[in-house]
Amino acid sequence: MAGRLQRFIVQSVTRKLLPESRTNNCLRVRQGGKQIQVHKSIEHGTTSYNGLQTCGSVWICPVCAAKIAERRRVEIVAAMTAHKATGGCVNMLTLTSPHQRGDDLRELLTKQAKALNGFWNDRQVKAVFETMGVIGQIRALEVTHGRKSPQNNGWHPHYHVLLFCGAGVDLTVQEAPPVLDWIITLYTRWAACCVKAGLGKPSLAHGLKLDDGSHAAQYVSKWGLEDEMTKGHTKKALHGETPFDFLRAVLEDPEDKQAAALFRHFAEVFKGKRQLHWSRGLKKRYAIGEKNDEELAAEKEDDFAVWLGTITIEQWRDVLAVEGRGSVLSIAASSGWPAVLLYLDGIKGVAQKPGAPPILQ
Ligand SMILES: [Zn+2]
Repeated sequence: MAGRLQRFIVQSVTRKLLPESRTNNCLRVRQGGKQIQVHKSIEHGTTSYNGLQTCGSVWICPVCAAKIAERRRVEIVAAMTAHKATGGCVNMLTLTSPHQRGDDLRELLTKQAKALNGFWNDRQVKAVFETMGVIGQIRALEVTHGRKSPQNNGWHPHYHVLLFCGAGVDLTVQEAPPVLDWIITLYTRWAACCVKAGLGKPSLAHGLKLDDGSHAAQYVSKWGLEDEMTKGHTKKALHGETPFDFLRAVLEDPEDKQAAALFRHFAEVFKGKRQLHWSRGLKKRYAIGEKNDEELAAEKEDDFAVWLGTITIEQWRDVLAVEGRGSVLSIAASSGWPAVLLYLDGIKGVAQKPGAPPILQ
């Protein structure tokens, strides 16, 4: 629950930085005049709201991003499990390109997408993938920023690709053929595609990594848990901050104008971009549904949830005025509805007090 509490607070930073975005209304404004209800999952014991709008943004909303990621992780694990059941294995490819402090993020992404397109269509790359028995892939787009690292290289967009390979494609022995040959060919072609797309030539050490199934499994197990792993935010920042780290930075220090500006810029550039891309036919092959992010964000926590209570509009205004959305859920989960009523009584009328922040209807 601690992670969820934090996410509501971090979401309010998005609201402050991007007041025009849909996230501004996310889990604040009612859905077409519906009642605001709190439900509790029988299976997980967690609580959630019903009747509120959700924004469904994986890039700028920490609350929706966490929920969507959790569901996407289930889909990925299901596909990987099904693939392994047929005897196949899943390895991981990481692709990056050189980037400098002054690089424009939008331009970097465009060039990287071009390089990637060239890479997938490359004859030699296709030949290697065929030897590896690759039948499909899931690609994730990520970005970090190096403003806190000793050598600030600016924005660092990169791809992680889960390769659904044939049986027995063991990548643990990297120093000998055939794995060594695959790596050299893939790296050489990726470097050529980067240069052709107007990016610099990546080094062998950084441009391309081919990791075995244990890395792939580890990556997937952490998928979407980014905010749970930021206990050492400052320490982690040395290795590059994620966009949600910028929100946390602003939360810690409202004077961190750089973090605010970088987040706004990121939001503008990433709007509408897909976070996860499944190669054609892979979802169908393993009977994975085709739900979009908005649908996942709006879904109920689970089908076996019980109604705990309803919050009136007046009470809700007070909750918003004290940033208490996370608190209501955690009190409801740990102590039940009577405790929530006590809490609501304690903050009663706060929204009407002079100086209270303006509240959306
Ligand atoms: Zn949202």
